[in-house]
Amino acid sequence: MELQNPTHLLLVSSPGLGHVIPVIELAKRFVLHHNFKVTVLAVTSQTSRVETQILNSVLTPSLCHLIDIPSPDLTGLLAQNDRMVTRLCVMMRESTPAIKSIMYEITPRPSALIVDFFSTEAIPAARELDIPSYVFVPSHAWFLALLLYSPLLHEKIVGEYVDQKEPLKIPGCSAVRPEDLVDQMLDRSHREYTEYLGIAKRIPQSDGVLVNTWEELQGEDLEALREGGLLSEALNMKLPVYGVGPIVRQPESETSSLTDSLTTWLDEQPSKSVVYVSFGSGGTMSFEQMTELAWGLELSERRFIWVLRAPSEGAADAAFFTTGSNEVDAVANYLPEGFASRTSKVGLLVPEWAQQVNILGHGSIGGFLTHCGWGSTLESVTNGIPLIAWPLYAEQRMNATLLAEELGLAVRPAVLPTKKVVRREEISEMVRKVIEGEDSVKSNRIRKRVREVQEGAMKAMSMDGSSYSALSHVAKAIEGYR
Ligand code: UDP
Repeated sequence: MELQNPTHLLLVSSPGLGHVIPVIELAKRFVLHHNFKVTVLAVTSQTSRVETQILNSVLTPSLCHLIDIPSPDLTGLLAQNDRMVTRLCVMMRESTPAIKSIMYEITPRPSALIVDFFSTEAIPAARELDIPSYVFVPSHAWFLALLLYSPLLHEKIVGEYVDQKEPLKIPGCSAVRPEDLVDQMLDRSHREYTEYLGIAKRIPQSDGVLVNTWEELQGEDLEALREGGLLSEALNMKLPVYGVGPIVRQPESETSSLTDSLTTWLDEQPSKSVVYVSFGSGGTMSFEQMTELAWGLELSERRFIWVLRAPSEGAADAAFFTTGSNEVDAVANYLPEGFASRTSKVGLLVPEWAQQVNILGHGSIGGFLTHCGWGSTLESVTNGIPLIAWPLYAEQRMNATLLAEELGLAVRPAVLPTKKVVRREEISEMVRKVIEGEDSVKSNRIRKRVREVQEGAMKAMSMDGSSYSALSHVAKAIEGYR
């Protein structure tokens, strides 16, 4: 049913499933909880089959209006060594004229603009139209704090951040160890770093930031970011920051044969006995690491589902723009000889992409070996599943530290997987720790903490919960501008 004179919100998403999925989920909340009309402007990579499928899913049953902005021609705009973030920033920059003209022409006239943090160059267009703009950060508050503080770190610190002897202090928040820094800060001479600083400087030009966390989880970081907080003071910033999470994908009743066979398999396994192994939409690893992982799973003698991708000796985010495009059997060829048949009774190999939220929501899953993408992390925690933190790219090393050392929700290898190959014995030990049956004080503590955080998340999202109230506040502010 078409609403009479609805508040019309435009939401802009950059390519990549870690961006598209939370933007769509945020859009759904504005539609379902606040009766907004929402149009999602999605710049698409057009190289990921899954991305197309997921975007189309919002049209059935037509929750939002979707405008697909095909990826612009980047010929001559990128150098050989430009990495994923630069590519995303350039894509979004080149798409800004198209976004702007839609903003000007679309009816009903938009009441507000929300952009993901790679799309901040559209903020001035909102000002020209005299509508408010917000930035949606699908990650957590500690990451947002580091991002916003980076221009100041840039002035204060001489030399490479990774060469610093001490963790980098952020007022009001935990310090960040040099080895945990986001990829974009690892090499200051790289274009990716300049692009990253540009994002950090543009965010405060908006009317507020929506961040995918909640008060009970990261109250101190949110406090530091708010007006009067230590970080805001240091930055001289008066930007409203709203913890609106966890914004996570809801399980879908997809009916492909894969889902059916997966469900049947999961139904046959004992409660909390399976470890789910997946590295997000883009994660890949070397052949040597993949071999160790296979042996580690086998040695653990625990049940598993492993979402398999072909190994890559280069960047750990090699599959980011091509998710779901490889062939099944080609990938299985990279596994140790006989692995698939030896583990066929306890393990399930899924090529490239799985219906993750459906899997994590199944009672047989007892642990998640994850690359620590924030979306995956939240999907795990909201299902009460402890994690094995295996960070690969972006802000995932910070996430792993947050999960394992601050929040007590994960175990992790002694050395970062991007620095050194994690050996089979350690993998096996971690799997045994998170899967029920292996009782130790540490694993029981982790499982208890996950249940507590799960309950806190549900509370935050319930009516009158902190995140529900924060989003209602934004919705009211938008309506107030009309
Ligand atoms: N995902 C999925 N199936 C897969 C891999 C990923 O459904 O096989 C989804 C996952 O549920 C999450 C998103 O893709 O919603 C990945 O986002 P995340 O922030 O975890 O990581 P990124 O892909 O951005 O690194």
